[in-house]
Amino acid sequence: MTSDSVAIERQTMEVDIVCVGFGPAMGGFLTTLSRNLTREDGTPLVESRVMPGMPPQVICYERADDIAFGVSGVVTRARGIRATFPNLNPVEIPMATPVKHEKLLYLLDPVGASRRSPTLRLADRLVRAFQWALPCEREALRLPYIPPFLRKEGGLLLSIGQFTQWVGAQVMASGLVQIWPGTPVASPLIEEDRVVGVRLIDQGTDRQGNPEAGFMPGMDIRAALTVVGDGPVGPIGRHIDERFGLPEGYHRSDWAVGAKMLVDLREDVDLEQGTVLHTFGYPEPEIFGFMYVYPDRVASLGIFVPSWFDSPVRTSYRYLQHWMLHPYLWHYLEGGRLRSWGAKTLQESGKRGEPFLVGDGYARIGEGSGSTNVLTGSGVDEAWMTGVLLAEGVIEVLRAGKAFTRGNLERWIEAEARIAGRARDGFQRGVVTGLVGMALAGLTRGKLAISSEPAPPHCRVPTTEEYFRARITPEEMTRIREESVSRGQALHDALMERCGWPPIPHDGKLLVSHQDALLVGGKVQAPPGYADHVVFVYPNLCEICGTKMCIEACSGQAITPGEKGVPNFDREKCVHCGACVWNCTQPRPDDPQRTNVEFRAGTGGLHSAEN
Ligand SMILES: Cc1cc2nc3c(=O)[nH]c(=O)nc-3n(C[C@H](O)[C@H](O)[C@H](O)COP(=O)(O)OP(=O)(O)OC[C@H]3O[C@@H](n4cnc5c(N)ncnc54)[C@H](O)[C@@H]3O)c2cc1C
Ligand code: SF4
Ligand code: SF4
Repeated sequence: MTSDSVAIERQTMEVDIVCVGFGPAMGGFLTTLSRNLTREDGTPLVESRVMPGMPPQVICYERADDIAFGVSGVVTRARGIRATFPNLNPVEIPMATPVKHEKLLYLLDPVGASRRSPTLRLADRLVRAFQWALPCEREALRLPYIPPFLRKEGGLLLSIGQFTQWVGAQVMASGLVQIWPGTPVASPLIEEDRVVGVRLIDQGTDRQGNPEAGFMPGMDIRAALTVVGDGPVGPIGRHIDERFGLPEGYHRSDWAVGAKMLVDLREDVDLEQGTVLHTFGYPEPEIFGFMYVYPDRVASLGIFVPSWFDSPVRTSYRYLQHWMLHPYLWHYLEGGRLRSWGAKTLQESGKRGEPFLVGDGYARIGEGSGSTNVLTGSGVDEAWMTGVLLAEGVIEVLRAGKAFTRGNLERWIEAEARIAGRARDGFQRGVVTGLVGMALAGLTRGKLAISSEPAPPHCRVPTTEEYFRARITPEEMTRIREESVSRGQALHDALMERCGWPPIPHDGKLLVSHQDALLVGGKVQAPPGYADHVVFVYPNLCEICGTKMCIEACSGQAITPGEKGVPNFDREKCVHCGACVWNCTQPRPDDPQRTNVEFRAGTGGLHSAEN
């Protein structure tokens, strides 16, 4: 019996605008809105519908236990952010600094375990043969040219957590907006195809959502407008998509899992603050890496494991450590100390994953609305701008009683999203084709691109046996599988080591085990009294699923082998990255567009303002 199946008295509150999630998109929305709700003398510019005489009542609910939640170290051109804060001085934002140097590096494979195509192997041989004449250093080739569409000159390096906190403090200081962290929104309230508000999650339940002692049903918040900015795997955005669908021909088959660390560099490291390194080629050709240097020799570094990397053992944590150990990077990282760690996914379909941006009673902003620029890999400024543009539209609507129109959102962000629309399609056909496609789209401003429709995991990821056929016999695979299941562990460590990846030399300081990272770096938490937010919808599909990608891709070791093939989920290790939702290889029988993992609203996860 769940809380939905018993008669429950829910409290109801009425506001004018209810907002879901406080990321950069909501920061842009609430900053712009709060500056325009009152006149200079403090009187309301428009009156609240629910509290006549007062300015509109605006409330924002954030899932994480602080408004400073975030996982990405960020390099951004910050055009939208600077337009909102014309006198922005990076010194005011902890860890922020202007971009000074950018390097794009092709990393050779120093261990010989990377899965490279014959073309790439030939390229590697040529680079090695001519390294005396090329800008090569420690197994890395520095590209002499960074295409203009990739450059972030004049931009900013930010800690997304610190930036969000800085913005949130100003929004709350206006006294016109309430932000409630630690308050996940469970679902939208939909009546006759109109969104009329949201429901907060129930407290005092068991893991299945059944009421227990101290049960408190989540409140219903009714509002004329619901603004959804809950990021790439936000349950409210997904719920709305399920109800209203995506526009014809749109899809969400491209994503990436990002894993990152914040590291104190050694005293003698001579990387200047504002340095930006972008890498590709290693640990697997499909994996991109980044390192940004903040003030006080703090570095934010990480990798992206994209959906077009067809390996069924896509462990972002282990690959991140191999990337760090690459001689070019290890030169800077050796002797460093892990400050925090985290993981998050990126919705990389961009414009082609755009849902209906507005509907009756609701509007979508940020990454969940397809704002991320998949060509340049940037999302913060774009998300910010969608929030700003919506706020401008909302202010007009409030003043003149006009309807929300998509036209209100069509500005530069729209034009650039179109250029980026097909930029990454080439990667569906391989890394080299992908890089060529990206360059074509970027340099021709989207006029040319290599077309190829992205396929969901169940159509493209081979079984573990097929993928490793050339290196591991079926008998050996069965043995490795049985050993992993009996230890309750994922397969990836055993398979990677069998394929030549050296064990990670844990030093207890920077290179720590995945379990230690959950405790030391990410500060993962999961308060009791809430239902599990990761649910395997059809356990019978898990029973017959051979790849168990949810286990292999899980960023927090929160999903482990379970009885009769149905995985176990441990909420206390979940970092809410959403990798399991994207990577599950089984489509649902009732809706092949969705995977067998449902990602509901939940509490806990990472707590780290530094990220
Ligand atoms: C590893 C990594 C590196 C990146 N690097 C860069 C970079 O260098 N430059 C760049 O520009 N972009 C970068 N990005 C992308 C960028 O972080 C995102 O595009 C951006 O954060 C999107 O902002 P948003 O506000 O739409 O969503 P988010 O930042 O995801 O914010 C959504 C918020 O909603 C909250 N939420 C979710 N569900 C609920 C719920 N049910 N109830 C209440 N609250 C909820 C979440 O907790 C979160 O705080 C990176 C991303 C990753 C993962
Ligand atoms: S959740 Fe998906 S990937 Fe995981 S075992 Fe079940 S069907 Fe397989
Ligand atoms: S269980 Fe949690 S940590 Fe693991 S992949 Fe899913 S969301 Fe990420």
